[in-house]
Amino acid sequence: MSQFIVETATPKGYQLKLQTGLFINNEFVAGSDTIDTVNPANGKVIASVQAADKKEVDAAVDAASKAFHGPWGKMTPSKRAELMLKLADLIDRDNEVLSQIESLDNGKGITFSRLFDVKQIAITLRYFAGYADKIHGKVIDIEGALCYTRHEPIGVCGAIIPWNFPLMMLGWKLGPALCTGNTVVVKTSEMTPLSALKVAELIVEAGFPPGVINIITGYGAIAGDALARHMKVSKIAFTGSTAVGRHIMKAASESNLKKVTLELGGKSPNIIFDDADLDLAVRWAHKGIFFNHGQCCCAGSRVYVQASIYDKFLEKFKEYTKQTKLGHPHDDDTFQGPQISKTQFDRIMTYIEKGKEEGATCYMGGNRWGNEGYYIEPTIFTDVKQDMTIVREEIFGPVVTVSKFEDVDDVVHMALDTDYGLAAAVFTKDTARAIDVSNRLQAGTVWVNCYNELDYNTPFGGFRQSGIGRENGEYALDNYLQVKTVKINVSRQP
Ligand code: NAD
Ligand code: MG
Repeated sequence: MSQFIVETATPKGYQLKLQTGLFINNEFVAGSDTIDTVNPANGKVIASVQAADKKEVDAAVDAASKAFHGPWGKMTPSKRAELMLKLADLIDRDNEVLSQIESLDNGKGITFSRLFDVKQIAITLRYFAGYADKIHGKVIDIEGALCYTRHEPIGVCGAIIPWNFPLMMLGWKLGPALCTGNTVVVKTSEMTPLSALKVAELIVEAGFPPGVINIITGYGAIAGDALARHMKVSKIAFTGSTAVGRHIMKAASESNLKKVTLELGGKSPNIIFDDADLDLAVRWAHKGIFFNHGQCCCAGSRVYVQASIYDKFLEKFKEYTKQTKLGHPHDDDTFQGPQISKTQFDRIMTYIEKGKEEGATCYMGGNRWGNEGYYIEPTIFTDVKQDMTIVREEIFGPVVTVSKFEDVDDVVHMALDTDYGLAAAVFTKDTARAIDVSNRLQAGTVWVNCYNELDYNTPFGGFRQSGIGRENGEYALDNYLQVKTVKINVSRQP
């Protein structure tokens, strides 16, 4: 099918044919450079993929622009929906191979890849496919004219996605962009390019016209930057660090003022009141921080527990966390695999050291796990103060701080003491208190008596420096549409 296929096998012997070309105009092509992508479970190179420079970004944007003004723009919305549904079906058909690739390239447990990541991209595409033929404007009553609005696509949309949920992020970007009639250039993370390239093969099989979806990888500072400041890209959607988010806004402002949506970091508080179901709170708090090895923008990394149950919570949390199954990503029962890269591993270990230096108690974990790959033990810090680095900065790893609070005002004050505002959670049996605290928190999502429950049909995004705009749900559509007002004169005089 293409000269860029690399045949390999997972460490458990699952045979794979990996696609490593840049996907532009429905073809796999060479880049100006190559990037090695690594298996984080053993640090070994899996394959070398083609990497885009400005030249290939231009080619991808040209292809997307031609498709927008050509076949995709002329296609009926119901036909667009049909293609999206077909792609979702093909993703489900190939769940196993996509899961194997996701776990190999990213390090997440295979059961999570199968039941969460791969399912999420399919279900997200299906959800948004349903909107394709339900997007329409309004008629507005004005004097002497017929006035109506049209909700039109923006054009070529750029998407820059991270490595923590490579396939799910692809779905979150493609779903709303395609159903609203836009074409797309996605830049995947240079650390996890492989699963999206497998999806690229399915995009061809589904029958999408060339150029509607282009998938390239490349370094952020080269390919990502070129996309963010491209004069023919009308909108950019970014997920990743707050630092790069700032850069994206700057690139947009220095080029064509393209529309920008950002989904950035967090330091989300998880508040546990003394009337909560303690065993359930422990399990959700565990999922809140340790799901996806702590590599979750909405991770519940600051746990606040009411003083009267603090000691009991800690004891139970430690016991439960001890049972975390660390292991090989391709083992069915692995809960926690390796961190994504040596760089992230080092960064997290530096935070752990900093926590100790600044006087926090490393109550559990704090060490490397195993002797190969980038594994870190689930780590719990106690005796923390609000001004400590590990309470203030996003660690993006399996590291949580557990602090004590006295009453509602006390904990709301501490929860708000951050620049971020992506998510938060409240555990209590008192509904009035749950509503009161939820209202007072500054966060795009507040979970009550649960954590890290992400649904394709509910809006997700950040308050404050955690982002701009909402992904998922009906709210996501606004980011990909522009409103045109048409006034047809009936009886007005100049
Ligand atoms: P990052 O923000 O550097 O990378 C995310 C994406 O942005 C990648 O595709 C990358 O290639 C691209 N990128 C990087 N620099 C760019 C630039 N100058 N212009 C355009 N695109 C650029 O994130 P990272 O280095 O992979 O991780 C660092 C930290 O970011 C993590 O420790 C974590 O705190 C945060 N992070 C957050 C999320 C999230 O879901 N919100 C995801 C990944 C990382
Ligand atoms: Mg990798």
